[in-house]
Amino acid sequence: MGTIGQKIVGLDVEELIKSLNEALADEWLAYYQYWIGAKVIKGVMKDAVITELNQHAADELRHAGMLADRIIQLGGIPLLDPKEWTEKSGCGYNAPKDFNVLKILAQNIKGEQCAIQSYQKLVEKTKDKDIVTYNIIVQILTDEVEHEEDLQALEEDLKTK
Ligand code: FE
Ligand code: FE
Ligand code: MG
Repeated sequence: MGTIGQKIVGLDVEELIKSLNEALADEWLAYYQYWIGAKVIKGVMKDAVITELNQHAADELRHAGMLADRIIQLGGIPLLDPKEWTEKSGCGYNAPKDFNVLKILAQNIKGEQCAIQSYQKLVEKTKDKDIVTYNIIVQILTDEVEHEEDLQALEEDLKTK
């Protein structure tokens, strides 16, 4: 990365890259969990849920791109092997076993809640230390908070049917 661009980072850059790679792994797994969930889902109001799941999948993929770009900018290498996704992930992967709409929603809500907590930690870590990464993480966190709310609203609609 640019010499001065690196100098203004008031954090251990190697450690920061490690955290960003963990988040990158989480995003790929979240992307796939939404993507495959939208394929296998069954039950009432399934079409509305599929639309939401696919939108979220697209957001998670975009987040992966934002993280990979920042890792490269910091002089790091984004995870190169999908095998590392489950190894390095903080939130892990929850394979859908029951394809019922409510079960799929519950799994994804759990995933979003984990994501919110890990991005909150990254926000605290980068605040006043690395404004560029901070700004990226705030954008992602804002999306994850919206995702959780969207899914819980759908869950509520389904439960009151
Ligand atoms: Fe995300
Ligand atoms: Fe999300
Ligand atoms: Mg949404």
